Amino acid sequence: MSYDNFETNAIRTQTESSHYKEHSTPLYLTSSFVFDDAEEMRASFSEENDRNIYSRFSNPNTKEFIEKVVQMEGAEAGYAFATGMAAVFSTFAALLISGDHIVSARSVFGSTHTLFIKYFPKWNIETSYFDINNPDEIAPLIKPSTKILYAESPTNPGVDIIDLELLGKIAKKHNLLLVIDNCFATPYIQQPIKFGADLVIHSATKLMDGQGRVLGGVVVGKSELIREIYLFSRNTGPALSPFNAWVLSKSLETLAVRVEKHCENALKVAEFLESHRNIERVKYPFLPSHPQYDIAKKQMKLGGNIIAVEVKGGLEAGKNFLNALKMCSLSANLGDTRTIITHPASTTHSKLSAEEQLSAGITPGLVRISVGLEHISDIIQDINDALMR
Ligand SMILES: *Cc1c(COP(=O)(O)O)cnc(C)c1O
Repeated sequence: MSYDNFETNAIRTQTESSHYKEHSTPLYLTSSFVFDDAEEMRASFSEENDRNIYSRFSNPNTKEFIEKVVQMEGAEAGYAFATGMAAVFSTFAALLISGDHIVSARSVFGSTHTLFIKYFPKWNIETSYFDINNPDEIAPLIKPSTKILYAESPTNPGVDIIDLELLGKIAKKHNLLLVIDNCFATPYIQQPIKFGADLVIHSATKLMDGQGRVLGGVVVGKSELIREIYLFSRNTGPALSPFNAWVLSKSLETLAVRVEKHCENALKVAEFLESHRNIERVKYPFLPSHPQYDIAKKQMKLGGNIIAVEVKGGLEAGKNFLNALKMCSLSANLGDTRTIITHPASTTHSKLSAEEQLSAGITPGLVRISVGLEHISDIIQDINDALMR
């Protein structure tokens, strides 16, 4: 059963209760499921029914989590993974063959970029890159062997935005699969399928869990594509654990209220920083100063919880700012209840040359803020105190 509203589906989509009539879906921590007789087992293996067989294939907790994300994204089907990267890798591996070509935005999540440049070439799958801020670069990169058009919006850590409707049109015109990593937006803010995406990927580790507890990933989209991804995954084994699925499904019940508050706090922090004398510039999708503000307003319900800021004084100033923080965490995660601040030039992107950093949008003083759910005045005070030291 599904409802017209996001919040209701997130809460009322539940695995059927057992004979105990529990109100909240229990944890089905079991590796396999039993059959009454040989005929029932045969019918289940030949998919004549949708019984659970083995938790690498499906499990009541993972099914519930997947069903919620399918409804949230307006998709037909989905499959859940142990991590976001397992979801990204399995999607490409299931759908591509040797000789296929990918066209991707240059600014994608670090490990996704590593798949493109280090691992996929081993299987003769090449990737060409376009600048996220220059979609005109896409069409000339497309070849007869191009199968997938890939992007994230907003991007990490630059918070750039790309027009999803335009990507949908390009994919359709050239008969490509459009695959969007929607992790930074969540389906509450943006639903890429509406704009023509064939598949949507999430690292559920971030805002979906939202409390920094578990890793997880999910892919949703067209049934026939999910079928291929499911068969690949059922045989290769990157499945989400029932425990993590149970945690994540409960987390989705509060996604709407959490994301609303994250975004409200983030907009306030962004506005505060825009007028701060120790800040060079601020990038946040819902600030009118963002270069793609109009596109953000068109395709996003809210601005998200990630802010990119350039601290005056470059690398040293960026590091000093982080060192002076008293409450905000220095951590690799994002989308947590706790505000997290990172300095890409000295951490995640430190192995790149200065030139490579710039082409990935990483300036020396760039700081990424994942605004949490602490009281807004405590967040702003900690950031301000650290900037004024
Ligand atoms: C974190 C992240 C991933 C990878 O997810 P994991 O759960 O850490 O494997 C992929 N894409 C984006 C945009 C991310 O932020």
